[in-house]
Amino acid sequence: MPQDGQKTVTMSGIILKELLKEYRIEVKKRPSLSFAGFISEYAIMELERRKIVKQAAPLSLITVHDNIIVLKDAREKIFVEVQIKDKKWFCLSDKSDDCIHVGFAMALPETKDIR
Ligand SMILES: [Zn+2]
Repeated sequence: MPQDGQKTVTMSGIILKELLKEYRIEVKKRPSLSFAGFISEYAIMELERRKIVKQAAPLSLITVHDNIIVLKDAREKIFVEVQIKDKKWFCLSDKSDDCIHVGFAMALPETKDIR
């Protein structure tokens, strides 16, 4: 029975199977991670990703090459490079690690293996 401020969610079928598969991979890296904690993190990341994708509608991926992600920013009609160095993401246009280009690049499925 959930307490105040909590909610119980029931999952089944293919969604549960997929999430359990991802959880088993993640729990090997972080043994103290509970399934509920994993699902919460996953949901928060997905909400953040959706927010970024919505804000970043004028952005598109041109290419991923080694540690450089090239994006097109249709608002300013420019190409933007996001560089990953020592696991740190940096936008060369904005000289920032916290602009929309970095957020967009991090949310792309094409950069999943670089992260
Ligand atoms: Zn930027």
